[in-house]
Amino acid sequence: LEKMGSTANTEKNGRIGGIESRIHVFVRLRPMAKKEKETGSRCCVKIVNKKDLYLTEFANENDFLRLKRLRGRHFSFDASFPDSTTQHEVYSTTTAELVEAVLQGQNGSVFCYGATGAGKTYTMLGTLENPGVMVLAIKDLFTNIRQRSFDGNHAVHLSYLEVYNETVRDLLSPGRPLVLREDKQKSVYSNVMQGIVAAGITQYRAYSADEVMTLLQRGNQNRTTEPTRANETSSRSHAILQVVVEYRVKDASLNIINRVGKLSLIDLAGSERAIATDQRTLRSLEGANINRSLLALSSCINALVEGKKHIPYRNSKLTQLLKDSLGGACNTVMIANISPSNLSFGETQNTLHWAYRAKEIQTKACEANEEVIDVPETGTDQAKLLLELQKEN
Ligand code: ADP
Ligand code: MG
Repeated sequence: LEKMGSTANTEKNGRIGGIESRIHVFVRLRPMAKKEKETGSRCCVKIVNKKDLYLTEFANENDFLRLKRLRGRHFSFDASFPDSTTQHEVYSTTTAELVEAVLQGQNGSVFCYGATGAGKTYTMLGTLENPGVMVLAIKDLFTNIRQRSFDGNHAVHLSYLEVYNETVRDLLSPGRPLVLREDKQKSVYSNVMQGIVAAGITQYRAYSADEVMTLLQRGNQNRTTEPTRANETSSRSHAILQVVVEYRVKDASLNIINRVGKLSLIDLAGSERAIATDQRTLRSLEGANINRSLLALSSCINALVEGKKHIPYRNSKLTQLLKDSLGGACNTVMIANISPSNLSFGETQNTLHWAYRAKEIQTKACEANEEVIDVPETGTDQAKLLLELQKEN
């Protein structure tokens, strides 16, 4: 067994595990769709130097240059991905570090956010030919586990659930709605789940990445479809994939340590009409028939940005489930998906404002979820060797 304990919290230069941390925010521009081209729409987004993004309703180069002087139309993110960016590039820039941190026993979350049709599901799930973040993350997880040869002392469990109309459903085995309840146990396992569990949810034990794409695609087909739009997955359904990795390692003193890390990958409902960056707009939206979970998410993010003491997590199922991902000790990444078309100008502007604001959220420092479950017996060869080594020093 490799000594994983010694590598925990050593990524001082990376964005993971620091004392002070914030949500990292990325923007992905999708290619112009055929339909958009046919209706003669123009591109209203320009990305320069991998970070900066300009938004304009007019689309020639001079307008973009002039825009540099306009306020409110220039955004800067941890990275802005142009429409040529591959699934692999998106994965490795946004999520690869989180997968590494999960193997150190930390929690991580990736949200995809944006209007319906902006590319959230493509980014998260992807296609058979071009698998997305969910599949690439699990692949990478298994590769890392193999390289570290944990000798079978590990388990990877997947849960895939949906929040639709404030009802939580199991996407891996559809049936009755799931009840969220507080888990009062004080184990590393409940620590990793931060106290909220969906009672009775399927925890699928995965042994390789190969089976995962089919599993998730089937799960995605179980997402609720809007009655008025048969065959189309609802734009109001949130999908959450939770990957829990548990394994045993020996630390430098040969104690056996049980370590658990959780990665949550979230394909949010379409953000159209449901986002607001100020409390007044939020309140006016509350009466309308708008996704309650998404509104609650906006409220929590606003409260977190403003440094409020009370964060209204309890207002929706989604925010209850994601409590630990927003304000807790978690490495959090947000990917805002946008269309290039001027027909979506308003939605794109909303998405960008919201994403820009999310950058201000501070998260707490991550600590490893681990507990010592066995101490070495004196007299074993390894313990003797260790004692001798200590004497030599
Ligand atoms: P959302 O989940 O946000 O509603 P989708 O991910 O379903 O949007 O994307 C809408 C359409 O655009 C789909 O047909 C999808 O395959 C396509 N698409 C989205 N992003 C990309 C991309 N980066 N490259 C190629 N096609 C994309
Ligand atoms: Mg979708």
